[in-house]
Amino acid sequence: MNFPVTRMRRLRRTEAMRSLVRETHLQSRALIYPLFLCPGEGVRKPISSMPNVFNLSLDEAVKEAERCAELGIGGLLLFGLPAQKDEQGTGAWADDGIVQSALREFKKNRKLDSLVMMADVCLCEYTSHGHCGVVARDGDHFHIENDASVELLAKTAASLARAGADVVAPSDMMDGRIAAMREALDAGGCDQIPILSYASKFASAFYGPFREAADSAPQFGDRRSYQMDGANRREAMREIELDVTEGADMLLMKPAMPYLDILREARERYELPMGAYQVSGEYSMLHAAFERGWLEPQRAMMESLLSIRRAGADFIVTYFAKDAAEVLG
Ligand SMILES: [Zn+2]
Repeated sequence: MNFPVTRMRRLRRTEAMRSLVRETHLQSRALIYPLFLCPGEGVRKPISSMPNVFNLSLDEAVKEAERCAELGIGGLLLFGLPAQKDEQGTGAWADDGIVQSALREFKKNRKLDSLVMMADVCLCEYTSHGHCGVVARDGDHFHIENDASVELLAKTAASLARAGADVVAPSDMMDGRIAAMREALDAGGCDQIPILSYASKFASAFYGPFREAADSAPQFGDRRSYQMDGANRREAMREIELDVTEGADMLLMKPAMPYLDILREARERYELPMGAYQVSGEYSMLHAAFERGWLEPQRAMMESLLSIRRAGADFIVTYFAKDAAEVLG
């Protein structure tokens, strides 16, 4: 049936009609808010490149988490900025590490029961060199040791789960980490704790502002020997396949908006629940345009989230989680 029998505009006539036939919906329960924990008390340190995002000491983080629970947000993704960093990143798996301590506190607070507590698993916030694994130096050259890093990452995942994480989310991109983490979790009595794998994390310029937020910029070199080349769609599917085989329970795609095609393809191929991380650069560039009056903030924010959802994400990790939850009511 063609025009004039078919008229697509019939179903766009009123908001009630448009709402009835809408295919994709956003909900606060499917938004995850990242939190950056730092030492001290009463600390609420703004991140200059990310408006309305802060480094928070534990007392302030509790207030922020309670607000997220009130807004009906689905969960938090926790990152830590330790007081001390070292070559190995020992703070990542310390029993009294910054995220471990926060998890113990959060888990005692009944107001936070509705939040799924996800703990990022990586070493870059804890290492003095800022890389996600163990650095081996050879004169002027260096490389990141895969298997030695995996061992430390598995230890970190187990430590976070023991402290109360509901989900562990490895973001390091070492080979074989999912199987190693599953083994460490099970051996540590945490066989009920799922792994949310950043299965195909691309080496992206859009992480720039996060490195200020998490104080995790590499001190030398870059991350291209472990994070993926942004040109590679097929390789992304292989990465995901491996993580699924190794026992990942959920997938997290990162970044989101510049990689929506990857998200769509993964959605069509895999049955696992899948999230997408709308990363710092995606957030900052929208805010930069809002500040100049170039984009309408609420509409652009919601449209950016909707595009990620439509591409196939079940849930979205986003710095807009609180703002979007307010709009969604
Ligand atoms: Zn890292």
